[in-house]
Amino acid sequence: MDESILITGGAGYIGSHTCVELLNAGFSVTVFDNYCNSKPEALNRVESITGKSLTRVQGDVRDRVALEAALRSSGASAVIHFAGLKAVGESGEQPLRYYDNNVVGTLRLLEAMQTCGVKTLVFSSSATVYGAPQFLPYSEDHPFAPTNPYGRTKLMVEDILRDAFASDDSWRFSILRYFNPVGAHASGLIGEDPQGVPNNLMPLWLQVAVGRRECLNVFGDDYDTPDGTGVRDYIHVTDLAEGHVRALQWMAQSDGGLCRAFNLGAGVGYSVLEMVRAFEAASGKPIPYRIQPRRAGDLAGFHANADSARSVLGWQVTRDLQTMCADTWRWQSNNPSGYVG
Ligand code: NAD
Ligand code: UDP
Repeated sequence: MDESILITGGAGYIGSHTCVELLNAGFSVTVFDNYCNSKPEALNRVESITGKSLTRVQGDVRDRVALEAALRSSGASAVIHFAGLKAVGESGEQPLRYYDNNVVGTLRLLEAMQTCGVKTLVFSSSATVYGAPQFLPYSEDHPFAPTNPYGRTKLMVEDILRDAFASDDSWRFSILRYFNPVGAHASGLIGEDPQGVPNNLMPLWLQVAVGRRECLNVFGDDYDTPDGTGVRDYIHVTDLAEGHVRALQWMAQSDGGLCRAFNLGAGVGYSVLEMVRAFEAASGKPIPYRIQPRRAGDLAGFHANADSARSVLGWQVTRDLQTMCADTWRWQSNNPSGYVG
């Protein structure tokens, strides 16, 4: 396949893994990133893994002129849009920054795409658009009720895409709602490299395992879940990356426009304590933990109904929890300071 794809945010955690899968599948890749939460080194590693080169453009998605130049010079036929800010807590403290980056950034991107006649987009949405479960597993028609500004930026962009499609049905939009991405590429060369203090369970586990943190805080053991701790649907980042390739291939096969959302999750939930046991097995290190009060805004548990992705995209996860933890540990062990040092 000699098709060119523009990837906004392609140097980030999910973007870099998706670049690998796209290059392996024969696509040409141009990454458009301002590196506000990533390092260019991730892209060098992508090239090492695949033995293929990609094109880098440093720019901000709110800069329409820069986007148009990148679309033209790359000859892209489609865009995968990862560029966005993603820290839930920070989105409550800096909502205007989040709306500007995530919503305005996407508007500028859509305008640039329209000007350049590129009408195919994969958008990174999130299970957070659903909010408190009215039923589980969440299917794509579950009502929306995001509980924080970050989640609302995702829902706003989804609404923008649905409205754009309603007015012009030549657009092709795949909205991918990720559950909890974890893991790292099996090579140990790329992985999640959080800047500042992490919030998510996996990077916090790693800090405990390498002795940078005394113990893991388990937020709540009195939820209505099998062992009382929070349950999430963890998905290996390489499985997630493959979902993007499938979405592009599905859209390319379509005669006309389309706009459809897909849950990308494993369809299985694991509790925090089950994760602790899996971390211990992967790292061979005991993970001391302390039960703490519930974290404000956390949901008890949720997991995906990923039937649509399976039946329409022909996609499903193939990597289990043990692989997620082992690959994460390999990345951490090989790169104790992330991409630096
Ligand atoms: P990440 O922070 O690792 O990657 C995002 C990339 O976008 C970074 O390289 C960053 O430098 C870039 N970026 C941000 N704002 C930009 C801008 N204005 N212009 C150009 N580049 C910009 O995050 P990730 O985990 O890889 O997430 C990718 C996408 O998936 C995000 O949109 C995120 O909201 C979404 N998502 C992530 C998760 C998760 O848990 N990781 C879950 C659901 C959805
Ligand atoms: N969690 C925890 N301790 C931590 C971080 C997270 O017990 O230090 C729990 C959290 O309450 C949730 C699960 O781990 O039940 C996943 O949290 P994460 O922040 O990774 O994802 P999200 O809450 O965004 O789904």
